[in-house]
Amino acid sequence: QKFQLVPGNLHDSHSTHVKSNPMPIYSQAVAMAEHFKAASSCPICLDYLENPMHLICGYICCLRCMNSLRKGPDGKGVLCPFCPVVSQKNDIRPAAQLGALVSKIKELEPKLRAALQMNPRMRKFQVDMTLDVDTANNYLIISEDLRRVRCGNFRQNRKEQAERFDSALCVLGVPRFTSGRHYWEVNVGTSKVWDVGVCKESVNRQGNVVLSSELGFWTVGLREGQIYFASTKPLTGLWVSPGLHRVGIYLDITTRVISFYNVGDRSHIFTFTKISATEPLRPCFAHADTSRDDHGYLSVCVINNSIASSPIYPGQGNYTLEHRKHPQ
Ligand SMILES: [Zn+2]
Ligand SMILES: [Zn+2]
Repeated sequence: QKFQLVPGNLHDSHSTHVKSNPMPIYSQAVAMAEHFKAASSCPICLDYLENPMHLICGYICCLRCMNSLRKGPDGKGVLCPFCPVVSQKNDIRPAAQLGALVSKIKELEPKLRAALQMNPRMRKFQVDMTLDVDTANNYLIISEDLRRVRCGNFRQNRKEQAERFDSALCVLGVPRFTSGRHYWEVNVGTSKVWDVGVCKESVNRQGNVVLSSELGFWTVGLREGQIYFASTKPLTGLWVSPGLHRVGIYLDITTRVISFYNVGDRSHIFTFTKISATEPLRPCFAHADTSRDDHGYLSVCVINNSIASSPIYPGQGNYTLEHRKHPQ
């Protein structure tokens, strides 16, 4: 019944953030934008609400989407898709104030999109990340430098232990995070089935694993090479700008936010707010693409740090970039 809660949520969570949490402006803007987006979209067409109407129970959708609602049992009125209440014609009223707000949000969207773009300063918080083989499912092949993973067709011969995902095609990363801000990038190549993000150190690793924020996983992923989603409950389908090959992940434990970006065009993909900060968080990777595509793997990127990097000589720059794009 998300639709009925949205306006309330918008108000409550915003005001508690402001009062109790001195969020930096950026994270606050991202969180607010997510709330606005959720509050202004139609549960039927998933687009911005157009001429929003509300039923007697509080359900809201576009005027044109009302036609797709089922009729009441006696053929009169319309049945709410989320509760058993039937609204008669006279009960259905325009949500004029919400309509005005949505048009305003729609108008501001391009600016919002620009404001949500990846901030290059995030790269200051980059971490040197490797994969933790002791947690890797035995069907995952991990490269020798511990930066690359792909799903194989044969079981790897590794010892069985409690930290290992015994059934789910997952592997965790090192380091673990307990405080502060962190940034890393994951090359997803041409993989068609993957998930990246963070999870609680204590997540269940035996048997089936459900990627859900409720169970301690904050991830975005791809299925069948075309469906992107975030591990909210229920899942949130994502619109991702075309050509996503590298995901930028910014974790801020202080404000309990994790954001995902398309590094290619710096666009924002998704932000989870109110993530858990009660125990260490681990970078988390899942790969279930068994196609033999040479670029069908995940790899944690070694990012060029302007402070720590060695000088680049003329002609060397291109080589370095190529080398990173296609690590051996
Ligand atoms: Zn609609
Ligand atoms: Zn209802």
